[in-house]
Parts: sequence; structure tokens; C-alpha cells
Amino acid sequence: MTIRIYRGKDSLSHDMGPDHPECPERIHAINDQLLASGLEMSCEHADAQMIDQSALYQVHTKDYVDDLFSRAPQEGIVWLDDETAMMNKTLSAARYAAGAATEAVDWVMAAENRQAFCMVRPPGHHAEKDKAMGFCFFNNVALAAAHALNKYALERVAIIDFDVHHGNGTQHIFEGESRVLMCSSFEHPLYPFTGTQPHADNIVAAPLNAGATGKEFREAASNWFSRLHSFKPQLIVISAGFDAHAEDPMAHLRFSEDDYKWISHQLRDLADTYCHGRVVSSLEGGYDLSALGRSVVAHLKGLGGDNQETGGA
Ligand SMILES: [Zn+2]
Repeated sequence: MTIRIYRGKDSLSHDMGPDHPECPERIHAINDQLLASGLEMSCEHADAQMIDQSALYQVHTKDYVDDLFSRAPQEGIVWLDDETAMMNKTLSAARYAAGAATEAVDWVMAAENRQAFCMVRPPGHHAEKDKAMGFCFFNNVALAAAHALNKYALERVAIIDFDVHHGNGTQHIFEGESRVLMCSSFEHPLYPFTGTQPHADNIVAAPLNAGATGKEFREAASNWFSRLHSFKPQLIVISAGFDAHAEDPMAHLRFSEDDYKWISHQLRDLADTYCHGRVVSSLEGGYDLSALGRSVVAHLKGLGGDNQETGGA
């Protein structure tokens, strides 16, 4: 398995307080399952660099980025919305998370048959061009795609987002951008209550009703594949959120580890067909600690080309 796992310094130090679901323990839970599964040994590991402030302007407004840098507290806490807060390590954690996404693009573009997973927090897909929201500060996946378009002059980047919440920030950043095809599934209605309005042709949405299982997800995702096959992506970027799992407390979908393994394997097959196996995946949500750890293992096994059902669990 050639998967490289990028970690971000300060991922464990960004802590929005007791009882906040987007907590450092999420990373510990994934680490535990990587060790238990043996993937810790079979994957490569890298520590990400912090992204430059100016690189953030690729998808965020300069006013927003500069304002966030100026408001980052040395001590205490600054709330940006009801559930998104900065403390002294938040800005650096967010810059390492975004740095992981862009560095992972550099790594997969440097050779064929490379897949990277950014095991970082904070997540990114709710971050808008000019606003932090929903636990997100910088849009990691959007930065990865923009970096690929700008640095490598790619003409076709696919973004797949299977987090249970709609990736509003990513969609708004790339709506109408013909070099990007965004395919997403999400529970609707659910926070942030976007994604079902008429939208640009490069956005393929699969809203799912509360209670939907992996069976409905797999049927909905079949629409993605017809578009993806005609698009022929040169790079696949994944917003890998695992909060559609049946055990997750934040939503009401009923995915299993096997569903995450299935979609990941499908995307790996697509990458092998069109983009020399190149995939960059970045962690988004997933709030039941045990299900999160198991789901990431299933995701990595699928991305690594393992097509066996995970069984049990
Ligand atoms: Zn989510």
C-alpha cells in the first residue's frame, strides 16, 4: 500500500472546550484503529508544513484571511459562530491542516499511483470564501484543488464529498468553475441547509433523507460516476467525513464501514483509470469516536485497492 498519511502539528492542541464534538480525541481514536488494523505500519507517514498566508488567498478573500490572522488570540477564546472558536493554537492547526492538503497534492503529482490521506483537524468544507463556520476555518479540500489547478495547470479536478453535512463552502468556491466537478452526498434537511437549490452544472448533488442507508447512498452515487467518467478527472480530491455512519450522533444516516470502503474503492478504480491513481483525501467530520476510527480504516483500505468487505464490526 502506497498511501501516505499526513498529520498536522497542533491538531491535538486546537480544543474548543469540553463537550465540543470536534475534539482532539478524534485523532486519538483514528490512531488507535490504525495501530489495531496494522495500517499504521503499512502506510507512509509525513508531517505537514504550515501553509503560507498568501496561499490561502487562492480560495479565501484577503480580507477574511488577514482578519482571522489578526484576531487569533494569544490566550482566551474568540467565538466566530455558535460552534466555531479560536484559541492560541487554532490558527496554526488550521494552517497545518491546509498545508497538509496542498503538500499532499505536491506528493501525489510527483509520481504515479500515489494516494494521500490528511488526518488533520480542524476540518474545512464549511469554510466559505469569506467566513469561518461549522468547525471550519480554511477550506482544506478547496485549497488542494486550487493548488492543483494553479501550480500544475490541471484542467480537470474532481472533488467528492461524502460527509453527512453539505460542503457549502467548497460548492460556493467552485460553482461555475468548469475545471472542477464536485459530487456530494449529504443528509437533507440538515445543517447547513444548503445544496438542494438549483446550482451550476459542475455541481452534482445527492441529498439523502434521514434514515437513508448505504444502499440509498450507493444508488445515489451511481449518478456521480456517469459524470465522473465523462469528466475524466486528472486528480481526485475527497472531503472524507464519516458522520453519515449509523453510530454517529450528529445526523441520521445509516452508513457502515463497508459503505466507506466501497466508495473509496470505487474512487480508487476511477483514479487508476483516469489519473494515474492520484487521490488526495482530507478528514472532515465523524463524531462517534469508535465508528470514526473504524471508518477511516475502511476508507484507507478501499483507497489502497482492497476490495474485500470489512465484515463483522
Ligand atoms: Zn459533517
